[in-house]
Amino acid sequence: MEILSGLTQQEIEQITDSLKASKFRARQIHNWIYLKSVSSIDEMTDLSVKFREELKKVAKVSDTKIKVKQVSSDGTIKYLLEYPDGECVETVLMRFDNRANLTACVSSQVGCAVNCSFCATGKRGFIRNLTYKEIIEQVLTIQRDTGLKVTNVVFMGQGEPLLNLDNVLKAMEIFNEDFYIGARRLTVSTSGIIPQINKLAELDMQSTLAISLHAPNHEIRKQLMQIENKYNMNDLKKALKNYVDKTGRRITIEYLLIKDLNDTVEAAKQLAMYLHDIKCNINLIPYNPTAENDYQRPNNNSIMKFKYLLEHSGKKVTVRLERGADIDAACGQLKGKVD
Ligand code: SF4
Repeated sequence: MEILSGLTQQEIEQITDSLKASKFRARQIHNWIYLKSVSSIDEMTDLSVKFREELKKVAKVSDTKIKVKQVSSDGTIKYLLEYPDGECVETVLMRFDNRANLTACVSSQVGCAVNCSFCATGKRGFIRNLTYKEIIEQVLTIQRDTGLKVTNVVFMGQGEPLLNLDNVLKAMEIFNEDFYIGARRLTVSTSGIIPQINKLAELDMQSTLAISLHAPNHEIRKQLMQIENKYNMNDLKKALKNYVDKTGRRITIEYLLIKDLNDTVEAAKQLAMYLHDIKCNINLIPYNPTAENDYQRPNNNSIMKFKYLLEHSGKKVTVRLERGADIDAACGQLKGKVD
């Protein structure tokens, strides 16, 4: 049985060819899947009943289930999705500034091998990569459930996207060509997997690359992110400069602010020095405390002082609005399981 979600126009044409139907039928099915986000073939009402019956014998829309859905007081929605093999991931819909801007935060792996100390996902270890269809399915589920069109996709959910790069790149291609989401509205976030960053530079990626830096120096980064032992900040900096040179694109630096660890004046100065010759914007993310470690959120004064010092160094700095903290949908809180 073919699953229609995640198929390209050409792949849908192979199904309609096998049913001796025209390419126009394939185009209609494609629109129902990606633009109208239907849940069943019966909802494809511009196809004849006879053709729908034939199609139902060889295909269905989706094989992914919503296991849990939580809605935050700020409108953020978190889904726990279950794939046919029983593995689950979380995906989050965030609404920034206005309802026209709907951002899906998607997962790329079940679990994660990188094991950052502040992250709930890393505690599970790596379980498996998601296929590109399973990544696509997360956005389609949101669209089907809400009846809304996702406008932006960020690969900032569970998993390290660059350790599942082929599937992530294929999913990005489909978001771009089949969902009509512009490349600039797609963001891939990484803990800093240098060989893959170099590969993205070679590919001249036109989407946004976000780096989870989270520390101003090697010592603090080692405490927070084991990946620093393999790909350290000095080498990362060379890779980032190469990326900017090759693509001309500005990088986003993600920096989780943790009280008394990386939120000091000294840390801000070191960070500014590290980034001074990298074309980037900085996104500060005040830490959301979880039950799994002792890290604390800095107070608003410290956050604003840190922001000011970086701005003073000439960078554009934003403080990420907290979304969905009351349903554990904020950064570092996704687990991919039911407690
Ligand atoms: S923060 Fe990202 S890279 Fe680090 S353990 Fe969590 S999911 Fe993996």
